[in-house]
Amino acid sequence: MEFEPVIGLEVHAQLKTKTKIFCSCSTEFGAPPNTHTCPVCLGMPGVLPVLNKKVVEFTLRMAVATHCKVNKQSRFARKNYFYPDLPKGYQISQYELPIASNGWVLVDTNGEVRKIGINRIHMEEDAGKLVHGDTPDTAGVSMVDLNRACTPLLEIVSEPDMRSADEAIAYLKKLHQIVVYLGVCDGNLEEGSFRCDANVSVRPSGQQEFGTRAELKNINSFRFIKQAIDYEVERQIDLIESGGKVIQETRLFDSNTGMTRSMRGKEEAHDYRYFPDPDLVPLVISEAWVDDVRATLPELPDAKRSRFVDDLGLPVYDAEVLASDRELADYFDACVQAS
Ligand code: ADP
Ligand code: MG
Ligand code: ZN
Repeated sequence: MEFEPVIGLEVHAQLKTKTKIFCSCSTEFGAPPNTHTCPVCLGMPGVLPVLNKKVVEFTLRMAVATHCKVNKQSRFARKNYFYPDLPKGYQISQYELPIASNGWVLVDTNGEVRKIGINRIHMEEDAGKLVHGDTPDTAGVSMVDLNRACTPLLEIVSEPDMRSADEAIAYLKKLHQIVVYLGVCDGNLEEGSFRCDANVSVRPSGQQEFGTRAELKNINSFRFIKQAIDYEVERQIDLIESGGKVIQETRLFDSNTGMTRSMRGKEEAHDYRYFPDPDLVPLVISEAWVDDVRATLPELPDAKRSRFVDDLGLPVYDAEVLASDRELADYFDACVQAS
């Protein structure tokens, strides 16, 4: 029997604002632990979050660039869970009313172009970070650094539209290109500014209904994401062929072995008890603001590539390479102007 992989991705992109999403602390990476903190991002009782307008503007740019519908009214929600790097005991996110939904991007995999749907885009705050001691006097000790707490994230959730690891990577690279072009994210995978969870299932070719999915968590390079998806697809096919059943679970990718292993099953899945955050009013976006964002969007990679091919007569491959990087494309344009 032939099997077809089905893949949906959840991407987190850290927004390149100077300050955090609900307070005025700096978002700069690499500062000494806990120096970029205040009562709001430390989660002290009685403090109130104030939304950073720039976060909304950056999110609108991404929403418009990916053909999403901008929801005129959206809401922040509390996602409740306990973790030592989350002093409030909840993360402020968006849930049933996200800022944008129903978008798409075009993805080219080895010459085959397909439209990949975006289910939703929403804003949320990041958590802090646990640092596990590795020097003689800190071995065995875990420390909390809250510099990252409350930094703004975009979450971009795709439809389960991808059918191979290559297509998933092409989609990811497309999103990565767009956020970098728009100047809303630095796109640094190593520093965790752009990270991805991959949902993977398989189904017999020709079957309409989706199979049960596994979610692969936080993998931090394009190469590892491809490896993790390929491994997971094989694992699920082998399992089904040997009479087993895929169970819904969260799995971790181990880059040393190239394998995924179970982290937690659905039974242990979180119940986050989302509810509207009473500290933040509903977010209302005017038509005029969206129009203004649309009018000031830079030329995006797809449009650049087409222009290089149609107006300048470049081969598609060359156009693709030049358009893939904004600085390179701008430099090329400047050279053409000057020649
Ligand atoms: P959760 O909160 O469980 O992660 P979300 O709705 O936020 O759920 O994300 C689900 C992600 O999984 C989406 O990207 C979606 O496209 C993808 N997905 C849903 N069902 C399947 C499936 N059967 N196979 C692969 N991916 C799937
Ligand atoms: Mg998920
Ligand atoms: Zn702060």
